[in-house]
Amino acid sequence: MTHAPDTLAPGMPANENFDCEVAVVGGGPAGLTGAIYLARFRRSVHVLDAGSSRAVKIPRSHNMPGYPDGVVGKELVAAMRAQAERYGAQLETACVQRLQCLPDGEGGGFLLHFTEAGRAPLRCRRVLLATGVSDNEPAMPHLAQALREGALRYCPVCDGFEVIGSAVGVLTDRCAGVREALYLRHFSERVTLYFTQPVELSGEDRQRLDGAGVALQPAPVRALRLRGDGGVRIEHEAGTDDCDAIYGALGLRVHSRLATELGADHDDDGYLVTDARQRTSIEGLYAVGDVAQSLNQITVATGGAAIAAAALHRELGLPG
Ligand SMILES: Cc1cc2nc3c(=O)[nH]c(=O)nc-3n(C[C@H](O)[C@H](O)[C@H](O)COP(=O)(O)OP(=O)(O)OC[C@H]3O[C@@H](n4cnc5c(N)ncnc54)[C@H](O)[C@@H]3O)c2cc1C
Repeated sequence: MTHAPDTLAPGMPANENFDCEVAVVGGGPAGLTGAIYLARFRRSVHVLDAGSSRAVKIPRSHNMPGYPDGVVGKELVAAMRAQAERYGAQLETACVQRLQCLPDGEGGGFLLHFTEAGRAPLRCRRVLLATGVSDNEPAMPHLAQALREGALRYCPVCDGFEVIGSAVGVLTDRCAGVREALYLRHFSERVTLYFTQPVELSGEDRQRLDGAGVALQPAPVRALRLRGDGGVRIEHEAGTDDCDAIYGALGLRVHSRLATELGADHDDDGYLVTDARQRTSIEGLYAVGDVAQSLNQITVATGGAAIAAAALHRELGLPG
């Protein structure tokens, strides 16, 4: 059996024009997987991360293959960070404000500009963008605690299994919340749809909810409170309800601005459009994870990152 040293040899040095071969923007599961692969391909890779990965908020994920008892999001990310560093990836806490494409005449590649005043730009040959999305959060005291205890949830694909048979609320501000309520109906026969504001549902939506046995509370919600037993109290304009868990279906913010400012193609929701190798429409700019994929899942993020890293490695060729 061989034992790996704590830190293995870093990747090939970037040539004198570049600080690194690949800059990874975003240090969640997508960016870190890209960094692990690239570092093991002996590429010099620098991860710039603003430190707000959605994965860190996962109390315990039960759909990660290989973890039958689940895995705490924070621990998974910490392990990925250690793995990336072990192979020589450089990890830094930093927020990238702007990407600049350099013309071939100036040697090509990208300059990364930072929000931090006085921080010099970083120059790289390629960029792997893994900036993720953010959930629009409901107004609620003790929000972090509610997430930790599973009283507030965002992702029925992730954890619908964990609410089987429970009293589940879905809180939305839009007609699209109907879809999430119907999705959850597969897991529980006790689903109620709530609104933060008056929303005019179509007759067809009402029929679909009714047909599926999803209750509708049209009176806008005034407040959500964490109950002592782990559930949630919902105060709305027609009274008060209790449920075991409430799903926030208030939309997402897709962090694709760094790419769209360069003219990268995106869909109507803001997700970056990539080809089968995770290349965006901007040459040299790859995108992986939630920012490029509406099935917001860790396995999808890591799979895409492996594909992107392999393509980047091929594209970069021999050093020089
Ligand atoms: C409560 C909750 C539970 C979930 N449960 C599961 C589950 O059980 N199973 C599952 O598969 N998925 C789950 N998910 C979804 C999962 O967390 C995401 O799919 C996953 O984190 C996506 O990885 P990512 O690397 O694309 O994005 P993220 O993990 O969000 O990482 C993006 C990173 O980019 C950084 N960043 C953004 N902009 C910049 C910038 N300009 N400069 C520098 N850094 C920047 C952010 O700070 C962040 O650290 C859950 C999500 C939530 C919120």
